[in-house]
Amino acid sequence: MRMSRVEDYPWAGRAGFYVLGKSLLDGKEGTGFVKVSSGCRLFEAWRYACRHDSTLLFLFTMLPQVLLALLVPLLALADEGSISGPTTSVEAAGYSCDPNKCKLPKCNCASAKPPGGLDPKDVPMFVVFTADDAVQSYTLDAVNQFLARRKNPNGCQPKMTYYTSLNYTNYTLVTDWYVAGNEIADHTMTHVGDPSKEEINGNLMALNALAGIPYTAITGFRAPYLNYSVNTLKALAAAGFTYDSSASASIPVTDPNTDAYWPYTLDNGMANDCLQVQGSCKGQPVLPGFWEIPMYAFFDNKGVAGPHLMDPWLDNANGATKQNDTATLEYMKNTFTAHYNGNRQPIGLYTHPIHLSTTYPGVPAPNGTINMINSFLDWAQTQQNVWIVSSQQLLAWVQNPVPVSQLDSVQALKCSTPKVDASTKICNGIPSNEAGLLSHCSFPEFPFYTCYGCPQTIPTVANPNPPQQVPDGQQARQRIPANCSTPFWDPIGAKCLCSSSECQFNDISRPIGPNGANLTGGGTGGSPGQSSAPTQSYVPFNGKGYALPPGVWAASVVGILGAVAGVYGVLGAGM
Ligand SMILES: [Zn+2]
Repeated sequence: MRMSRVEDYPWAGRAGFYVLGKSLLDGKEGTGFVKVSSGCRLFEAWRYACRHDSTLLFLFTMLPQVLLALLVPLLALADEGSISGPTTSVEAAGYSCDPNKCKLPKCNCASAKPPGGLDPKDVPMFVVFTADDAVQSYTLDAVNQFLARRKNPNGCQPKMTYYTSLNYTNYTLVTDWYVAGNEIADHTMTHVGDPSKEEINGNLMALNALAGIPYTAITGFRAPYLNYSVNTLKALAAAGFTYDSSASASIPVTDPNTDAYWPYTLDNGMANDCLQVQGSCKGQPVLPGFWEIPMYAFFDNKGVAGPHLMDPWLDNANGATKQNDTATLEYMKNTFTAHYNGNRQPIGLYTHPIHLSTTYPGVPAPNGTINMINSFLDWAQTQQNVWIVSSQQLLAWVQNPVPVSQLDSVQALKCSTPKVDASTKICNGIPSNEAGLLSHCSFPEFPFYTCYGCPQTIPTVANPNPPQQVPDGQQARQRIPANCSTPFWDPIGAKCLCSSSECQFNDISRPIGPNGANLTGGGTGGSPGQSSAPTQSYVPFNGKGYALPPGVWAASVVGILGAVAGVYGVLGAGM
């Protein structure tokens, strides 16, 4: 346990804040409000709530409890990733690694220098974009407002990594997000820190069974609350994961003792978080070929004393007592520039999309912050060789690093679209194909949709893949086999539309020039209020419809969705 990561709340201790009872926060039965004398400290997830308490109190007072039961657990799942200072030191790390023995692609020493001995000027500047927790319509909307209108230098829409936990997740949206090219990764079933292997492996099984994500596609993990142990890392390696991304890079790249290492293997143990994770570092744990992708903090003008890791836009910058988007933007740019002008270690936007949603009923859209993040990405993308990527894409390049002049050869950076005719009726993660074919699994705890048949009970750690509930007169739906890609698998007809590896996808990447041509990213995100024309050919989720449970929930949000649909109308057209 690393409690120091979750204790530093400048807003904590606000007396008299009301929250719903713990039992409801856990998604079980529960009623009434509990006055929490120590304010927000009890539930780290209430960080957002504590900043917007008047709104939420209004929300809690005005909306029927049935709606609250749906809303509150979603809020409660957002987790924290704050650090308050260095999480390692040279002494605590006691790290040594011989680069003559530890060689790519299977082994890489923890190093601030780029992999493969590349000159930093030949190294792409990667901006890793991640989201954590449950997948719901409003979380995908939140991510889309930053990425859907952007292009990487090769003309492809950026991909990102969704570290998915399962409580309150709408499985069909996971399928859609994956089929659109994004990475789906593991964040435990029920969102617990220092998780058991059953929590980790159960997430794999349920995502495979109910979201149709191939086992081979789920290669990464992030620990809830960034709370991991040596046993977590061992469990991941044993289960065949390729990487963990829970560790912090907590010392600026301008410091000679920086811990902003490029992703590295644990052949020689961990080199990050050595002051935090018991039994880690000084050569442990030895997990050959298993990777750590550090999470790179931003630093404000307090330097090493002012780190900002997850959701930095919620933090107060420079020791101030109030959040300030202008100050956040300034230090984000400064940290990016330090990386860019130095050894080009990646930078990361590690988001909890709930904090950036414009479609979350009853919560005002944080438009200033959304615009600030888009401004940051706009600015970053005007520079040469900047790529917005998923963790998996970053790792693919690190394992086989090539100079920017040869990026055309990196398969993981390409974009491709599945060749499935829009008129084909197949439940495959493409909204135009699967319309009308989803199973609605109406569990009172959290209803969801899936292409793969509803389970008889909600997946649990004890039983992550319950038997299918087959409606009278219908056949069971067939879950995805190992030899078919998700967009081509027909779970109702139990057949693969295309089983050859060549016939399935169109490569729509644009060649990028060897002499610097087209090496800046394209497209600016703009704000949700802008009506710039869409440039992407495929967006997985259009902000309408089937994500919502029926009844009062849908009725309560229909007005909001209407407004959102208006704003995004131009984006949704022709998708
Ligand atoms: Zn989380």
